[in-house]
Amino acid sequence: MSSLCWLICRRSRLFVVIRLDILLLASALDAIYNPTTPQWLRQIPAVETLRQIWVQQFYAPSDDGSVKWRSVKDMPPSTIAIHSPHDVEAHYSNKRSIDWVGYKVHMTEICDENSPRFITNVHTTLSTITDEQALEPIHSKLEQKDLLPDEHLVDGGYMSGEHLVDSFAKYDVAIVGPMRSDPSWQAQQGRGFDLSSFQIDWDNQVASCPQGHKSTQWKNRQDSKGKPLIQIRFLGSTCKVCPVRSLCTQAKKEPRSLTIRPKEQQLALQAQRQAQQTPDWKAIYDQRAGIESTHSQGIRRSALRRSRYIGLNKTRLMNILIACALNLVRLDAWLNGTPLAKTRESRFTQLRAQGA
Ligand code: SF4
Repeated sequence: MSSLCWLICRRSRLFVVIRLDILLLASALDAIYNPTTPQWLRQIPAVETLRQIWVQQFYAPSDDGSVKWRSVKDMPPSTIAIHSPHDVEAHYSNKRSIDWVGYKVHMTEICDENSPRFITNVHTTLSTITDEQALEPIHSKLEQKDLLPDEHLVDGGYMSGEHLVDSFAKYDVAIVGPMRSDPSWQAQQGRGFDLSSFQIDWDNQVASCPQGHKSTQWKNRQDSKGKPLIQIRFLGSTCKVCPVRSLCTQAKKEPRSLTIRPKEQQLALQAQRQAQQTPDWKAIYDQRAGIESTHSQGIRRSALRRSRYIGLNKTRLMNILIACALNLVRLDAWLNGTPLAKTRESRFTQLRAQGA
């Protein structure tokens, strides 16, 4: 099976830019929160939404009734900010060069050679949920439907050492996707000592550097998302006089340090990075290309890119109905022997094939 997410935007008419005269705003706030104003007025959902949007945009620096625009850095993050008074669940998000306000959908389909390409799962989330966060709920839903695959082909956004280990342990599913390369400057520049230059002795919790020196610190920590990681440090006085220091660290004074994931995850990450260089792995992963056309089909036939409804639940239902309709189209094609369309090749790929 393979999965991919797509971005669903709320219609632009719902993305309202609020332009309020400051004086009007001040008097409106004053009216709503005046002790003589009936309490129920503040509890009307539309009034509460408007209040929150005003709080996002303005603040009152003193009690004299004046209000000021907030600076961008003083505004709430998009995970909680309201971007449209018409749909408070439609958040702003950004993926590479695309910005949108709305939701995100992840579709999973069968990509076996001799079977109809049925969509087996549709997972719609808030736009601020990452692909990596979506993978576990997708597997959980597939398990409930008894549709878990042996191999799940996904793009790099879903991949992590944690998923490589946990998907197999919990669901018996091998996830197949390109793992991000080692982000260190040594690995990126192809010179110097990256992580692969160090020997890790997991049992004794010690690392050995290319000069044969052993680490002096091994600390279990957590990353910014609360996930476990290990920080390893070498001795400052040794690294300070090391003849190959410039190949090891760019720090002015600090010794070399390494950050790795717990043993199972780190070994799975390394194995994945090696496997994805092989022709066999690439041949398996090529099957994932079909999921791109699933989104294309959904967009062209059923306007998948735009939500016709307000709120996550209705958008979720809309996406499930679209998937059901696409499955009927696919069943019809399968029964009538209509072959799959060829996966579109970019002009560059075509040019390269002609030159070969
Ligand atoms: S800088 Fe430190 S860790 Fe790096 S090779 Fe030299 S002694 Fe080893």
